[in-house]
Amino acid sequence: MGVIARYREHLPVGPETPEVDLNEGSTPLVPSRNIAGALGLKRLFFKYEGLNPTGSFKDRGMVVAVAKALERGSRVFICASTGNTSASMAAYAARTGARAIVVVPSGEIALNKLSQALMYGAKVIALKGNFDTALETVRDLSTNYPVALMNSVNPNRIEGQKTAAFEIVDELGDAPDYLVLPVGNAGNITAYWKGFREYRAAGRATCLPRMVGAQAEGAAPIVQGHPVANPMTVASAIRIGNPASWEGATSARDESGGMIAAVTDTEILSAQIRLANTEGLFAEPASAAPLALLFRLVREGKIDKDATTVVVLTGSGLKDPDAALKNVQPPIELDGDARALAKVLKL
Ligand SMILES: *Cc1c(COP(=O)(O)O)cnc(C)c1O
Repeated sequence: MGVIARYREHLPVGPETPEVDLNEGSTPLVPSRNIAGALGLKRLFFKYEGLNPTGSFKDRGMVVAVAKALERGSRVFICASTGNTSASMAAYAARTGARAIVVVPSGEIALNKLSQALMYGAKVIALKGNFDTALETVRDLSTNYPVALMNSVNPNRIEGQKTAAFEIVDELGDAPDYLVLPVGNAGNITAYWKGFREYRAAGRATCLPRMVGAQAEGAAPIVQGHPVANPMTVASAIRIGNPASWEGATSARDESGGMIAAVTDTEILSAQIRLANTEGLFAEPASAAPLALLFRLVREGKIDKDATTVVVLTGSGLKDPDAALKNVQPPIELDGDARALAKVLKL
């Protein structure tokens, strides 16, 4: 079952909305086995969004945006993206027989990141200029041609993404005390906050979490309070200088009594390795940013250790193996027998 079927009554869908799904959502809420103990936290969970069909939480919002676009009669989808949005859009376009067009800034084409979009059959255009130019151009195109814009400015994306908050409440029996997640364009923090509030209003939860957002130090416009011209971080999914849902993020932070803070790339990569090494969970660098922030908040005594904390692991580590491989030992080259192997392994 996908998120539309599971949460139909909470989504803007009706009898006219076509059925679309890739069995997205219903991702595991994995209890920490080792990090919680090391930090002295009573209850720590990881919402493992990398297990969505295209490897990130983007599928939750994309399935709703695609269903609504099809309902309006649209058969061509477009987005400006070099990453997880394009993969997700292309997959649902393939699934529903629609055309997918991905516009990327020329010069910023990393083929590994686009491999999913290309495999799902999207047409990829490398447009001269930076990301802002690409986004402006696809927005312009979608207002003047019969093409549906699938970037996160599409409100149906937020609607679909809020289902992750529902799942957490359904599993824990109530909202957690802290929800810690990365903040890039800030659609996801906006969506979670909307989801928690709606579920409480519907009587499904009695409380609301404090929303804790993590940005990367070189791409921290919300923390700094102004746009960042050249955002830089290893965590490409949150390399955003002027978030589309800025307001949504600051409202979530302020209304929940939470915070948004920045962590360094070094902290991000070390959290990513620790997560993989000690929990068996491989998440992309952007997804490790909230864990890095949690480590810091515990160090600074800013987290209630008896609380229930959920860290959202937004995307699979397989999305960006290059970033991860910089910090691990390469394979050992060996020409030898079992004895030689045992010696190398210090058995
Ligand atoms: C898109 C994305 C983010 C950032 O989410 P926003 O809604 O833009 O704040 C973080 N991590 C991953 C893996 C993503 O794909």
